Amino acid sequence: MIMEKQFCSKCGAENVTDSAWCEKCLNPFRSYGDDKILQCPACFHPNDYAQDHCEVCHEPLKPGQVE
Ligand SMILES: [Zn+2]
Ligand SMILES: [Zn+2]
Repeated sequence: MIMEKQFCSKCGAENVTDSAWCEKCLNPFRSYGDDKILQCPACFHPNDYAQDHCEVCHEPLKPGQVE
């Protein structure tokens, strides 16, 4: 099984192909619309829109969401 890699155009870090942004500098790889990414209000990590909570700090991402 071949694990494909992609390299960040910004910092050159090696990332797995299916990651949506560079793990090091958070440079987005995919041309997601801004509405597809929920940036964490606490740590600014760009989370997938499907996420309810930041995958880094677990802050709730969606406005009006009650924890
Ligand atoms: Zn990078
Ligand atoms: Zn966060």
